[in-house]
This record gives sequence, C-alpha cells and structure tokens, in this order.
Amino acid sequence: MHNTMWKLANVIKDYDWGTKTALFELFNITNTNNKPQAEIWMGVHPSGVSTAVDTQGKQIKLDQLIAQNSIQILGDKTKNRYHTLPYLFKVLSAQEPLSIQVHPELSKAKKGYEKENELGIPLDSPKRNYKDPNHKPELVYALTPYWAMNGFRPITEIILLFSSLNIQAIKNEVNELTNNQTDSGLKAFFTSLLKLDDTHKKHALLEFKSKIELLNDIPFNIIKEIAKKFPDDIGLFAPLILNIIQLQPGEAMFLKAQTPHAYLKGTGLEIMASSDNVLRAGLTSKYIDINELIDNTTFHSIPADQLLTQPVKQNNKINFPVPIDDFAFEIIYSDQHLQTEKLQSAEIIFCIEGEITLSTATDSFTIKAGESVFIAYCAGFFDYKGNGVLARASNK
Ligand SMILES: [Zn+2]
Repeated sequence: MHNTMWKLANVIKDYDWGTKTALFELFNITNTNNKPQAEIWMGVHPSGVSTAVDTQGKQIKLDQLIAQNSIQILGDKTKNRYHTLPYLFKVLSAQEPLSIQVHPELSKAKKGYEKENELGIPLDSPKRNYKDPNHKPELVYALTPYWAMNGFRPITEIILLFSSLNIQAIKNEVNELTNNQTDSGLKAFFTSLLKLDDTHKKHALLEFKSKIELLNDIPFNIIKEIAKKFPDDIGLFAPLILNIIQLQPGEAMFLKAQTPHAYLKGTGLEIMASSDNVLRAGLTSKYIDINELIDNTTFHSIPADQLLTQPVKQNNKINFPVPIDDFAFEIIYSDQHLQTEKLQSAEIIFCIEGEITLSTATDSFTIKAGESVFIAYCAGFFDYKGNGVLARASNK
C-alpha cells in the first residue's frame, strides 16, 4: 500500500425531509436536480459507501480499500474489535421533522437482530426493526441553529402542559399520570397515547389542534409547524412530552440509547456507530412496532439543561467527549501555521469552513468547506495548514 490519505466522494441522500439549498449555501454543493439534500454519508455503511480517490485520481470503494489492507488502515485494535470502520459520519440538513425514534442498546440490538433472522423477516422488509446487530449512539453538532426533541421532560412539566390544554379525549390518561408521577406512570401514559384506538386518537388530535390554534409560543408553534406535514400523527403530542432544544452553531448533543428523540430543523454534523437500527415512535408513515419500542425505551426524565455535551477546549481544538468507544469527535481551528496531529485511529476529516491543506508522509490534499478526506491509521500523524475549521472523526 503506497497511499495513506484519500479524498472522499460521498453519497448524498435525498430523503423528503431534507433541505434543497442549505448544502449549497454552506458548502457550495450544487443541487442539480432540485431534490432535497438531506444527508451526506461518509463511511462504509452498506446503504451508502463513500468512494476513496487517491492523489492520482484512482478510485476505489472505501469498504473495499479497508478490506484489502485492514490491519494497516484500521490498526490491530480496531480491526480485532470491529472488523471495519466502526463509525458513520454525516452532514444532516433538515427542512422538516424526522421521525421520533429510539435506538436500541447493544445487547438488545444483538438479540433483536438474531430473533428477526430466526423469524425469517427479510432485511429489507418494512416490518424489520433490526437491520444489523449494532447499537447506534449518536452525537449531533450544530452548523446552523438546530431544533430537536430529546428525552422526556420532567413529569411535572408534562402534566402542566397537558392540564393547561384540558383535552377531554385524553383526560383519563392525564389524570392517571397526575396520580402516578413516577417512571412507571410515564411509561403507562406514553404507551396509552400510542395505543389509542383510531376514533379516540382522531378526537384527541382534533381537540388538541383547535385548542392550540391561537397559542404561539414554544412548544405550540412547533406543533403547528409539524402538523402541516403530519396532521393525524400521534407524534403531535411529543413536543409536550419530550424536551425541546435549540442548539446554537458550535454546540453538540449526545443521543443516548433508549432515549426518544427527533430532529426538527437545521443543518449539523452527525456521527454515530455504523448502524441503521431505528425504532420509530411517531411523525412517520413507516411501521411502528409499539411493543418493541416500549421495550427499548428508558422512561426517565432528563432536565433540558443537561442535554448539551460539555466541550473540552485544548489550544486550537474542541473535543466533545462521548461515553462510548465507537466514535470520537473533535473540532480543529486551523491557521497559516503548520501543525501536526497524531492519529487516534483511521480518521475522516471534514472541512467545515475555509480551505486547508492536509498532509501525511505520502500524500497531500487541499480541501474546501464541504470536502473530506480519509486517513489510514498507519500514517501515524497528519499535518494541516490554512485558514479554516475541520471536524475530525475517529474511534477509540
Ligand atoms: Zn437518532
């Protein structure tokens, strides 16, 4: 192997909730067919493998490149533990809300995946919950103001919001939560809303929407916005049950396993374990397996002021610590001085702003905002120089 760094050509996903202009505004990425540009995928996940391009312009799929030289590219430790690149790095740009979801814990993902294999449910079946045996912790880093829902609100807050609206059709459910303000009460409340029969649900949503018509503060303005796309979805109640947070550019948030969350609007970077395991809870036309969802949800409130990941600053770098090994994420501010970084693993470096030259002992690329490179662990280090900001993905 003669090269240790490659420029990446990445897959852009045109999911219908994506923006059409944000990637052009931020990264000068043209939108030739005017479809939504929802996500850029950097990594080896089978649903969107990046292409590695060497300094001579020769191309190879990143998964093949890694498979051919996995010890050199990943290093012994990563190769033995994960067999491939353990993380998936994305740019995510939402114009409309994504579905409310939870991700399973590792042990449950393994069990669930095996069980669905035994039951003979094809991997591409809409009824398939577990696409792989992996967990999917994720971290989102805001590039623009970024709205999201994450974690259950304190129960007193949930009761206050529902009581203020006094929706007759779900009066019993709210009363029961008021009489049992515990995690199990929250579980019963959440489950009973998801299991409302169709007529009951219809009445509850109609009454709800008419009662919030003239309310314009958070979370009601958000609910009205969501209702444009999902007028009959039980997920319309979610902004009363889950914390609503707006990340400012430069802020990041870790999404724990078994915690319900949804991205509402904004552009950010997202890094996650290389997995596609999603259990949906609303704001979706896709399949909801209520029992599996409940079994994979931790019913415990998180105060909104504990949602942000506290950054650790060191010289020109900002690290966002995460409680798992599958990925690590760091922001690097670069200037005209040549600086050196020791590699932690095989790394993907994405240029957020400016124009920066990255070099290893064998290769050199200048990347602009929106462009990315992949560096093999065996390169040992990389140099960087040029005004701009880099986002760095690695694993432990
Ligand atoms: Zn998620």
